[in-house]
Amino acid sequence: MPYANITDLYEKSKRKYTAMKRDYHMHPNILKVPGQAEKFAKRAADLGFEEICFTDHMPFSLTPDESDRIEPGMVSQYCEKVRETAQSFKNIITIKTGIEIDFHPDYTEEVKSVLADGSFDYVLGSSHLNIAGYGIDMEHTSKSSYAAMVIENYIKAAESGLFDTITHIDVYRWVFSAYPLSEDGFTFERIRNELERLFSVLERTGVQLEINAAPLYKRFDSLGPYPEYKILEMAKDYKINYIYGSDAHMAEHVGFGYDLLKKFL
Ligand SMILES: [Zn+2]
Ligand SMILES: [Zn+2]
Repeated sequence: MPYANITDLYEKSKRKYTAMKRDYHMHPNILKVPGQAEKFAKRAADLGFEEICFTDHMPFSLTPDESDRIEPGMVSQYCEKVRETAQSFKNIITIKTGIEIDFHPDYTEEVKSVLADGSFDYVLGSSHLNIAGYGIDMEHTSKSSYAAMVIENYIKAAESGLFDTITHIDVYRWVFSAYPLSEDGFTFERIRNELERLFSVLERTGVQLEINAAPLYKRFDSLGPYPEYKILEMAKDYKINYIYGSDAHMAEHVGFGYDLLKKFL
């Protein structure tokens, strides 16, 4: 196990322990893939989850071709379909209606209009600065400055009042594996100040920090979940509320790594 002293970390933390077994981040692509939402719900119930939340990706003008997003104009149908599914599983597992939002300060009006089109139990704020339309020149940006931009964007997201939770704060780790950013010996220590500011904002606002299992099954590095174990260790000095999310895009990843990560919740 990468972090040797998890029990100690948990005991010392000021966090509120959440006993409910829940997975609040998954992408059944419910309007486009027939039967997948049911598979996700069955998988979660089989694993003993009491509650899950579907969080398909918002429609976004900058990414018209992405197949795993809700189509423009379909947000209310999305919410309706999630509620129908929730109704059919009501004696088996609780299903909440959520959405994953792409946050960028220049696009908050678009986000607000998406949120106004639906009715959500849960809104997850994410930062995908690798989207080409944001105009970041990946070949001429260093890893440290990219990571700092990501965290700055999450600070703004947490302060925006739009979100219950922010997800995958160190998603730059995946970006480093997929884009040609310039190497400058990056470790999270380079962005410690930005992270400290982010954690202060989470403490002040009550916006939750997601512990996201995706790196445990995507395996692009061995630093742990999002956020990596060392960042979780650093965050223990702040009174932050945590929530688990698998970020599953297929049923076999629903609930992934929960037993390993639950000590942080
Ligand atoms: Zn995401
Ligand atoms: Zn996601």
